[in-house]
Amino acid sequence: MEQTKDAVHGPDHYALEGDRVYLVGSRCPECDAAFYPEQAVCARCGHRGSEPLRLGPGGTLYTWTRVHQSTAEFKTPYVLGYMDFSQNVRVLVPLTDGAEPKIGMALELVLAPGPRMGADQTPATLVHARPVRR
Ligand SMILES: [Zn+2]
Repeated sequence: MEQTKDAVHGPDHYALEGDRVYLVGSRCPECDAAFYPEQAVCARCGHRGSEPLRLGPGGTLYTWTRVHQSTAEFKTPYVLGYMDFSQNVRVLVPLTDGAEPKIGMALELVLAPGPRMGADQTPATLVHARPVRR
């Protein structure tokens, strides 16, 4: 399982196809390793250059935590989870408000309001995960 770090799921990091939301990472053309966020140099084999790779829209919840204290931009409490994708990539994502996390549950990516940013305090739109309704 490739670990990722410091992912910010803003407009540079996602793609839309109809109502489906994907995170855009990268794949190494040499060894097929997948990464999120995109990596210009493969962390597995050192190959320079990568191809875009869409992750999602579905995945599973590896583990989670509920955050009760954060900076002023974030409404607390909120849930952060590690979401596993079929390409062997694990990404830290916020879960949508009201989601009741359960390890192993099916998740799907959606766009939802994120932290309130800037002078006008408009919520940024960020990629979140929500439980798949069955
Ligand atoms: Zn590689």
